[in-house]
Amino acid sequence: MSVKGGGHNIAGTAIAEGGITLDMSHMGSVSVDLDRRIAKVGPGCLLGDVDAATQEHGLATPLGFVSETGVAGLTLGGGWGYLTRRFGWTVDNLEAVEIVTADGVVRTANRQENADLHWAVRGGGGNFGVVTRFEFRLHEVGPLVTGGLIAWSAEKADEVLEVYRDVTSTAPRELTAALIMRLAPPAPFIPEEWHGRPIIGMLICYSGDDPGTALAPVRSLDDPIADLVDLRPYTVQQSLLDGTEPDGLHRYWKTEFLPELSPGFLDTFSDAALEVKSSLSDSVIFHLGGALNERSSDDGAIGNRDAQFIAGFSGTWPPDAPAEPHIDWVRRSWERIRQYSTGGNYVNFQVADDDTDRLRASYRGNFQRLQEVKAKYDPENLFRMNRNVSPAR
Ligand SMILES: Cc1cc2nc3c(=O)[nH]c(=O)nc-3n(C[C@H](O)[C@H](O)[C@H](O)COP(=O)(O)OP(=O)(O)OC[C@H]3O[C@@H](n4cnc5c(N)ncnc54)[C@H](O)[C@@H]3O)c2cc1C
Repeated sequence: MSVKGGGHNIAGTAIAEGGITLDMSHMGSVSVDLDRRIAKVGPGCLLGDVDAATQEHGLATPLGFVSETGVAGLTLGGGWGYLTRRFGWTVDNLEAVEIVTADGVVRTANRQENADLHWAVRGGGGNFGVVTRFEFRLHEVGPLVTGGLIAWSAEKADEVLEVYRDVTSTAPRELTAALIMRLAPPAPFIPEEWHGRPIIGMLICYSGDDPGTALAPVRSLDDPIADLVDLRPYTVQQSLLDGTEPDGLHRYWKTEFLPELSPGFLDTFSDAALEVKSSLSDSVIFHLGGALNERSSDDGAIGNRDAQFIAGFSGTWPPDAPAEPHIDWVRRSWERIRQYSTGGNYVNFQVADDDTDRLRASYRGNFQRLQEVKAKYDPENLFRMNRNVSPAR
């Protein structure tokens, strides 16, 4: 049996081949409790559903970058996005869940009640039962933020990477900048003569009061070929990347958490990125750090409190094209950057060929405790169509 939220899991764990799939998509309600500053969210919601409902009140909880992703899978694996530097992992804002465990009992899990279960679902994935309600803490955000994409020729890669390193080393928590290298897509905002040529860009989101100061180093870089950084509603910012992830394409990703952007890493990353095989693929570095570094490594199963960045390679190709050049590019590039990893990786970015060692590495010191909670709530491993944590024996 599998459980399907938004259906975005890149390992395809929402579908049980030859088994039963519990499709939660009809449980899509969101209600906002303004007194408690909590959103109660159904497990069928997509990120855009939650942002739309909470932004009506100028509130938000940290969610991911593509509004069509499911809240359930993203949250249960940890969750991060533009607001993570301010408010931590998505699960740092998960106050409670209602969950049906393997014995058929409907339980509430929060910091007081079934606290071990609450700890485990804060990153441990769908291993512990079927979540039927999430409760998220909300924060004042927007409704306007300064954000968008700015891009230059990849001939300026050294200069842009240096500025990216500077910006991220001094960034206020209100600023999240992601770095992207790819072949320019045939998008209307990219001049036609650049289509298919290598570019380097930053995806910006600044949710504070002084964008001029925060973005000054970025603005100091001359000759962008596209500059879409502007004041826009937070909900629009949250769906800016939707068009870059159309349905029906094939994908293969590999990422690592990083403790810093060392010169060696940046050289290696940039060399690997320039070897990309398709204008649908990209290489990315996302800035994390900030609030997520403030808690102890066992505050929720997600751990990885030493992660300052997440970086990796995403190969994308049409279904009728051969997969091998793209998978090969991702794997070779990832092998080159692994030496710079914290040793941890993000469970929600694991693909079907990631093995148990890689799963163990994504939880590091929390893995054994997760197995113990699994043995208590799901000793027969009913919930195993996921990145599976086997019960402790
Ligand atoms: C285009 C794209 C962009 C992404 N961007 C981000 C990002 O910005 N930040 C980020 O953190 N992650 C991101 N991700 C990764 C994403 O968090 C994971 O792929 C996640 O698993 C998607 O959740 P889902 O509900 O859509 O997936 P599904 O495939 O529906 O579910 C994934 C798994 O979650 C579990 N699950 C789902 N619903 C329930 C439930 N109700 N109860 C118990 N278990 C359940 C099941 O084990 C299931 O196999 C992105 C993925 C994609 C494809």
